[in-house]
Amino acid sequence: MKVLVLNSGSSSIKYQLFRDQDWVAIASGLVARIGEAEGEIKLNWLDDQGASHSSQESLPIPTHQAGIDRIIRSLRESGVLTDVAELAAIGHRVVHGGARFKHPAIVDDSVVAAIREVIPLAPLHNPGHLAGIEVARALFPSVPSVVVFDTAFHQTMPPTAYRYAIPESFYSEHRIRRYGFHGTSHHYVAKRAAAMLGKPLDQCNLITLHLGNGASATAIRAGQCIDTSMGLTPLEGLVMGTRSGDIDPAVLIYLCKHLGFDADALDRLFNRQSGLVGLCGVNDMREIDQLAAAGDERAELAIGLTTHRLKKYIGAYYAELGRVDAIVFTGGIGENSAEIRRRACEGLERLGITLDAEANDSRASRGERRISSASGEVKVLVIPTNEELEIAQQSRLAVMG
Ligand code: ADP
Repeated sequence: MKVLVLNSGSSSIKYQLFRDQDWVAIASGLVARIGEAEGEIKLNWLDDQGASHSSQESLPIPTHQAGIDRIIRSLRESGVLTDVAELAAIGHRVVHGGARFKHPAIVDDSVVAAIREVIPLAPLHNPGHLAGIEVARALFPSVPSVVVFDTAFHQTMPPTAYRYAIPESFYSEHRIRRYGFHGTSHHYVAKRAAAMLGKPLDQCNLITLHLGNGASATAIRAGQCIDTSMGLTPLEGLVMGTRSGDIDPAVLIYLCKHLGFDADALDRLFNRQSGLVGLCGVNDMREIDQLAAAGDERAELAIGLTTHRLKKYIGAYYAELGRVDAIVFTGGIGENSAEIRRRACEGLERLGITLDAEANDSRASRGERRISSASGEVKVLVIPTNEELEIAQQSRLAVMG
């Protein structure tokens, strides 16, 4: 059987098709600019001999329904899917599941209603996901749709980690609390870390650092999340590509009182114009590394703030956990930037965290690897994330009951 994973956004749908006997992704692609005059369709696939192919087209894709129709047609034409009956499940990525979903769920009307209900908490994401889910259900009623939530892994946090210290009614009446995101990635790398450590996940204490354009840190005790750096929304925590991360809320009050900011202007400032881009004008860490190496002071400060904040979270989560088996770096920056990893771990030798400089710097190494020195008590691991694979496997598991 096969599992199709869909990540439906407001104007694009990314997808991957997995073969469930060996979990190889036999196709992946994208339908973008839905609703615009000219849409974009991209597909990569493997043929029976394992050779890779790709195709690209431009044509109008008026709706999500047309987009998903088109995806299935492309998969059929390339020969990777003969019939939708080959699909054991369609797995959907959903950013926000509120406090209800601790696990993946097979989609029914009540699940759709629950995702709709938390739209105010994820206005940019949940509507696009819902469009994909509803179209998949309508087009392929015989294939179960499964939703896998970015928030689910963090539902094991205790109230001391998920509540804000504000009056209770904001929590009880308005659900204002910390939810956490990137859960699918944190869970995936935690499982891989346990395999690398040779221990069951439920015996592992881990700090996982997902550092991409969005970035978050998670403290995992005995395989379960006990704290994470993102909050009500993905804005809290680490310094990110365009988001500020942690900030004194009084800054917002000041901006409103003295600089005429309203809610939309605050949203733009802290979600789109801050973080790395706000500090040095660029949000691509490769470019920032080069600028800093050439002596650009703003780029150097951006790296400094990023690694200073990372180190604070490592320290805080170490204190929460008491004992740490491994620190895991993942995401585009975590997997690729030796400099960020080096500076985040620098000076932590007394905590048992010591990098092997050569292993950390090696550009030849790819894939899962240990970068801590043999003497370091805490293993430091680089583990490429694979959220789509995690969604595919969790979806398969959910429909197997
Ligand atoms: P997203 O959150 O969009 O999925 P990714 O996980 O792909 O993001 O990470 C994007 C980030 O990874 C960008 O800041 C990019 O500069 C960074 N990145 C990718 N490759 C490298 C590299 N070789 N060195 C440093 N940073 C890198």
